[in-house]
Amino acid sequence: MFNELEERQDFIVIKGRHKKAMKCDSHSVSGSVSQRACVYSGARVVLNPIADAVHLVHGPIGCAAYTWDIRGSLSSGSELYRRSFCTDLKERDIVFGGNERLAAAIDKLVQLYAPKLIFVYATCVVGVIGDDLEAVCKAASSKYGIDVIPVQSSGFMGNKAAGYRAACDALLKLIEPVNTDNIGKSRSINYLGDFNLAAETWIISNYFRSIGIEINAVLTGDSEYAKLKKTTDACLNIVQCAGSMNYLAHKLNDLYGMPYIDVSFLGIQDTSESLRKVAAFFNDDDIILKTEEMIKSQTAKANQAIERYKHHLCGKKAAIYVGGGFKAISLLKQFREIGIDVVMIGTQNGQPHEYDTLQELADEGVIIVDDANTSELEQFILEKGADILVGGVKERFLAYKLGVAFIDHNHNRKHPLSGYEGAVNFAKEVYSTVCSPVWKYALDQGGDSAR
Ligand code: SF4
Repeated sequence: MFNELEERQDFIVIKGRHKKAMKCDSHSVSGSVSQRACVYSGARVVLNPIADAVHLVHGPIGCAAYTWDIRGSLSSGSELYRRSFCTDLKERDIVFGGNERLAAAIDKLVQLYAPKLIFVYATCVVGVIGDDLEAVCKAASSKYGIDVIPVQSSGFMGNKAAGYRAACDALLKLIEPVNTDNIGKSRSINYLGDFNLAAETWIISNYFRSIGIEINAVLTGDSEYAKLKKTTDACLNIVQCAGSMNYLAHKLNDLYGMPYIDVSFLGIQDTSESLRKVAAFFNDDDIILKTEEMIKSQTAKANQAIERYKHHLCGKKAAIYVGGGFKAISLLKQFREIGIDVVMIGTQNGQPHEYDTLQELADEGVIIVDDANTSELEQFILEKGADILVGGVKERFLAYKLGVAFIDHNHNRKHPLSGYEGAVNFAKEVYSTVCSPVWKYALDQGGDSAR
């Protein structure tokens, strides 16, 4: 198989050709231009949906470009999270330290917005100059009697996955210990790893409400300070985005004995299985009956809508390149639901057990790749003749340059892809992009040089 870098071979598997444990969950190979984002960005995407918090970036102004509109999480309340604040470190601060500038920025923000919660994000340069975020945040917390929480997300300590852990550590500082009076009484759950992109949190919360289960806190889509503090009031954590929230679920289990289960609301099959798993946890006949009724009616409705697109899609081929393994697994099943064969699957931060599942589920000949670089993606898409790439914002232009259809499954979308409604939207979007006549004209204009 083509590869420019020998050291990358262990990160790539072809199903059926070699059965081996894939290398993953490790540092990117030097010289390979990884698609992964930085530690700070990982922390920011997890925490930014907390709507009534001030999100203060301690670093140069360029880092603050990573803000609300990179994801577009929706809020039903405060809009404070949509503002971007930065200490705008300059050469002088790099030489003499930025602690004073940070303390002054916190003073100003408290004066202007009177927040109950401030997150202070460390960036690369802060890791280099060694500002004492802990001390500045602690002093501001006691001065104002509010939560000022440092997010230890400076660069050079890993990749986006390290940022997820830094965000979870910050959340753990916020969450109050379990209230022993509530043990055994609660019938509510926490929903971890949904960021309310295009109202997805609200769709899934409505499903639970209609089967008689309340959502206590969502981490972190459409969430607010007071709710998050009471996270331990729930009796179960369900984890949608395992990559970003498994660490927190483990910690809550270790610290407070809160059980958790992995779920996925991408595609009809995974949505139904996830609802059944949560209903089974409560072991309540009424909840189980309502769940089955809902699955039956929603599945019939979604299948009927998807049928309109499906016969146009049979025989098409898809390439998947997303952040986490859980999403890749669900997408593989979801493409099958709409009659499309998956020919390449990759993730930026997949875990060993997720790659095992992908190897089990994939058809013979499918390329499975961890932490791919752009030239590998290009090679695999062309080699396998993919008609569509599903990925994040960084992969969009590669697909377009190759004359291949593209679906953004992460950043810029305005319609939900979760739940039964999301499954219909997904089929519709795949149909409208794969079957668009534009690809014929793009190829006529020279895109065929790539193909
Ligand atoms: S933290 Fe570092 S890598 Fe991330 S945006 Fe800022 S400078 Fe760039």
